[in-house]
Amino acid sequence: MDIILLGPPGAGKGTQAARLQTNRGMIQLSTGDMLRDAVAKGTPVGIKAKAVMAAGELVSDAIVSALIGERLDSATEGAIFDGFPRTAHQAEALELLLADRDRKLDHVIELVVDEEALVDRITGRFTCACCGASYHDHFHLPKIEGTCDVCGSHEFKRRPDDNEATVRTRMAEYRAKTAPILPFYEEKGLVRRVDGMASVDEVATAIDTILDTSQ
Ligand code: AMP
Repeated sequence: MDIILLGPPGAGKGTQAARLQTNRGMIQLSTGDMLRDAVAKGTPVGIKAKAVMAAGELVSDAIVSALIGERLDSATEGAIFDGFPRTAHQAEALELLLADRDRKLDHVIELVVDEEALVDRITGRFTCACCGASYHDHFHLPKIEGTCDVCGSHEFKRRPDDNEATVRTRMAEYRAKTAPILPFYEEKGLVRRVDGMASVDEVATAIDTILDTSQ
């Protein structure tokens, strides 16, 4: 099963994708994670993407489509596209990448959220620098201050693009370039909507219901 998780930054796509990967053996294909990795390693793609990401703008369609193409074959049990596609061109590129492999999308799950609440969600989030466990300044602090609940590390990090000004640009990019691809998928009857403001567990249950009832 190949699915897209669609929604603005902070809607919970990454959280839900990671959960589906653990529980169902599907593979999370997050272009944001791939690009951050490329930036950290200083690859040619990373060098090109760094300033664009810091500004909250979109990296070129060719770069992100190539990143997905390189990894799609590893998702033999199905892919969860997280943060891709983000433009009409990327949606078309994905159709071709899947068709070349005799695959097609099963669902496009839109996480419906309230944008203002998202700014708080995003600007407060941080992760363990060691194991990647997620935390939040208001909603989910480590049980012992300064110590990761999962691995005990004392090192934490925040994404450089999780500041309010950049978040607002990222939201505007979503509204202008990503939300308009929904009708393309609606015409194909693929869009399912989930209340992304519900708790992580409730969202997870709603997604599970969609995936289980379609098998
Ligand atoms: P994300 O982790 O999905 O929030 O992505 C972080 C940043 O990476 C975005 O603000 C963009 O600059 C870039 N990015 C990630 N995925 C894409 C994509 N599919 N198309 C263009 N830029 C992307």
